[in-house]
This record gives sequence, structure tokens and C-alpha cells, in this order.
Amino acid sequence: MATVTEGGNTAGRLSENEIRPAELLAGQEAAFARDVARLQHRFAEFVTVSCPACGAAGSEQAFEKYGFSFKSCNGCKTLYMSPRPSEEVMADYYRNSENYAYWAEHIFPASESARREKIHKPWLARVLAYCDRFQVGRGTLLEIGPGFGTFSSLAIEQRAFARVMAVEPTPELAEACRRRGVVVFEKRVEDLAEGEIAEADVVAAFEVIEHLFEPSRLLTGISRVLRPGGLLVLSCPNGQGFDVAVLGPGSKAVDTEHVNLFNPTSLSLLVRTCGFEVLEVSTPGRLDAEFVHDVIVRGEYDVTGQPFLRRVLLDEWERLGSDFQQFLADHQLSSHLWLVARKPAEGNRSRGKFTKVK
Ligand SMILES: [Zn+2]
Repeated sequence: MATVTEGGNTAGRLSENEIRPAELLAGQEAAFARDVARLQHRFAEFVTVSCPACGAAGSEQAFEKYGFSFKSCNGCKTLYMSPRPSEEVMADYYRNSENYAYWAEHIFPASESARREKIHKPWLARVLAYCDRFQVGRGTLLEIGPGFGTFSSLAIEQRAFARVMAVEPTPELAEACRRRGVVVFEKRVEDLAEGEIAEADVVAAFEVIEHLFEPSRLLTGISRVLRPGGLLVLSCPNGQGFDVAVLGPGSKAVDTEHVNLFNPTSLSLLVRTCGFEVLEVSTPGRLDAEFVHDVIVRGEYDVTGQPFLRRVLLDEWERLGSDFQQFLADHQLSSHLWLVARKPAEGNRSRGKFTKVK
């Protein structure tokens, strides 16, 4: 396991306004508030769970947001919502989400080209660098939860893989991906029949695992479609990242949908428990410092009595902000987490031992 920064700053400076245009925020926030209210009305159907990473029941109350309770696992420090919406409540939430409809209609069209250039292109370069570094072929890429298909369609255009497929259970999103030439399986990965998808060389799931009621099922489902020796690439928020650590429930990473906020150690543990060999964990995030800077500028976080944060994130922001963000990214301190793992080759499934696939 090592820390890398490639893909972190290669695409130049990224700003929040480019990926979520300010003039559209009010409409999006109103839609999201109605989603949250609908979820609050179903609190009686919420389910108490143990830690989604290590299974431990012992936890401390971390904080509340929108009236929902987040625990911190005593063992692995994963932050997780408990009680959390049952799987049925979660499915209804996404099916009827006004926030998602608003994104589909307004925010994605307005921001897709920026997202594509500044987020998905560096992500693809990063995935391809992993293929080279870990000697994995570029036969089939399978993306889990492709959204509107920006990443998968980019992989097709760049001929990065011989085949690009996606697993997307939401009908409107599946259709959007098909229109862009992606082969789509319209179901959850854990519901795929054995052999329904030819074995993938690389499975990527960006910003998916934090949403799931039982994340281990995603990983065991992926294991069934990944070929032995193939790569698993995950990204998700880091519950121990800078903006979560500073802002707590005020961080954008903490919301009704992110019921699992893993950290580098706990996500590694979960992935290993599900039978993978973890190759690398890194936090190539680019926005933590800006998030906190913006919150301070808006007067929503008081840095009185915190002269260091005030100096770096406000008084000397122009001089220090970018380098400070790079420091966070380089030391697993950013809130944007990546994990790369390999499915062990046949006959070599013992943990920690692995023969390189040629
Ligand atoms: Zn735990």
C-alpha cells in the first residue's frame, strides 16, 4: 500500500462552482430539503445496524444531521448512520428523489463538460495508470453506478478498454447510459446471475459504497463478476478527511445518502474481509480546503480562537490554500478516498500472499 498523487492535481485547479453552479444551488437545495423531509416522515421504518466495515456493535454518538444519528465505531472509527433507512425506504428515496430529478434536469447539463474534463478525465487516467502498474489487461471495464454515463462514455471514446459495460438499476440513468453506447445491465450487481456478465478485468465503483445499506454485498457481488487477478477501484468520502474532521455534520460529505463514511483503514478492512487483496489506498481530493474556506467566508464556521486555521484558510488563502490541499491529499487526510484492490488469482486466496498475474 502506498500513497500516490497522480490524478490529484494533473487537471489544474478544480472549483466547486464548476461542478455545482452557484445559480442552480437554491433550486437544488429546496428539492433536497423536500427529500429529507420525506425521509424524516419514515423514521419508524429505520433499522439499527452495527458497524458496516468491521461488524462491531460498540459505538459512540458522533453527531446528528437532519435529526439522523451518526455513530463512530469504537473499533475502526467508521462513521455510520444508525438507525438508517431500511433497504425498502432507501429504494423509495432514490426512486422519488426530487434532488436527483433536479440534478438530471439542471445541474448535470450545466456542469457535465466541466465534470468530464476536470473529474472524469483524471479518474480515467488514474484507472489506466493502475492497469499499467498492476499489469492488468484492458479487456472489459465494468462500472457500477455510472449515473449519466460520463465516465463510461469517456472510456469508450478514448478506446481505453475493449469493452465498457455498466450496472445501473435506475431506469432513467440506465437509458441515459445506453444512449451513449454503454452496455447496461439494469439491476444491482448483487442481483446478477452467475455468468450473466463475462468476467471483467476492471470493476470501478465511484461514489457508490457510501450509499448502501449493506456495503459488503456490493463487494461480494463484484467479486463474482471480476476475473481472478482483476482490479477493483473504489472511491468514496473519507470520514476522517479534513472537512469532516473540522466541520463534522457541517461537511457536505455528511448527508442523508452517505450512510457509510469509511476511512482508509476501515475500508481496507472491509475489502479484505470480502476476499480482495488491497493494493493501494489514497486520498487524491482537491476540494477539502476550499469547502472549509467557503464556510469560513460565509461566516458559518467561527475561527476565532483557531489562529492556525484562520491563517491558512482565510488570511493567507491565496498563498497557502493550494499547497495545504496538496498536503492533505498526500497524507491520506483528504475527504475523497480511493482504494484499489485485486481479486486473488485462483488457488491463491490466502490473505497477504499473492502471485503476480502476467
Ligand atoms: Zn467498525
